[in-house]
Amino acid sequence: MSSVSKKFGKKFGERMATSRWSSGEWAPLSMEKVEELSLHPASHVLHYGSACFEGLKTHRGVDGHARIFRLDRHVERMRRSAETLCLPIPPSELLTEMILATVQANVHLVPDSPGSLYVRPTLIGTEPNIGGALSPAGEALLFILCSPVGDYFGGGGIRALRATIEREKPRTTPRFGGVKAGANYAMALGVTVEAKRRLGAEQVIFAPGGRIQEAGASNLLLFGPAGVLTPEVDGSFLEGVTRDSILTLARDLGYEVAERPVTVDEVLDWIPKGEIALSGTAAVLAPVGTLFVNGEERSVGDGGVGPITLKLRQALMDVQTARSEDRFGWTRVVEA
Ligand SMILES: *Cc1c(COP(=O)(O)O)cnc(C)c1O
Repeated sequence: MSSVSKKFGKKFGERMATSRWSSGEWAPLSMEKVEELSLHPASHVLHYGSACFEGLKTHRGVDGHARIFRLDRHVERMRRSAETLCLPIPPSELLTEMILATVQANVHLVPDSPGSLYVRPTLIGTEPNIGGALSPAGEALLFILCSPVGDYFGGGGIRALRATIEREKPRTTPRFGGVKAGANYAMALGVTVEAKRRLGAEQVIFAPGGRIQEAGASNLLLFGPAGVLTPEVDGSFLEGVTRDSILTLARDLGYEVAERPVTVDEVLDWIPKGEIALSGTAAVLAPVGTLFVNGEERSVGDGGVGPITLKLRQALMDVQTARSEDRFGWTRVVEA
């Protein structure tokens, strides 16, 4: 959803933890300056797409402490992504230590809420081998970049997004649906660019065969009088940590939560009285106000920001910034 704020992701922390993998071993963590990488032009990643990443945030609490949100979940997911891409799987302890070291080294850059320090662990195949199309990279680089970011929408306000439903073109391939890899974004980009050009839509909701998966970089949730409805995890879309957090908080607040297959027709029935929101680490929970269906423009509710979206978004941000108690053990304090 980077179109919302031009600045998201263009400013970086000064230092990053790195580890290189070769001969089947991970080197001990090394702290490096964030600057240009030196890569051989034959590096596996440049030719055969051996790359995956994560995205998580560190928030400044109301008590002044910096806290990483759901570190364990992001570490687990990165390991699963690495496995699917036939990249070496970083040990949980190493990856955790590298993320903590990076946040610690840049902790003075964690802005006050609603800003945060966005953390981007990245793993790439670096072996120089253009004959390696059918074999995994024998060398890899893991690094933890971070970026202080402002409020996603800029200016502190929240506004409703315009989205279109894509019923034919897939976002990615079935085997890669649940993986956080740049390759998935490359596959979805043409569809997204076209939706923006033709309809002025910022988001594409992928629903091949009429069954809802997710938007290009965020999960889809429906809120309404009947409670919360969202597609069940089936490997076709990325299982978001924000999605899981919102569902947990919603259940806790007494909403009925249903995870099951959701069709486009159901979404159309839902929108006159309900809300649609997109969830992801970057945007937290973003409302969809306008939906294009077969090129026709429809309002979601009154076209603005719905009350359930606002309430759940606030509940999540309150945990992240320690304004409310962390009852689920989601946050981890990082000392300077
Ligand atoms: C990262 C991502 C999301 C959101 O996941 P979070 O863990 O909530 O940040 C959703 N869809 C895709 C395709 C993603 O890459």
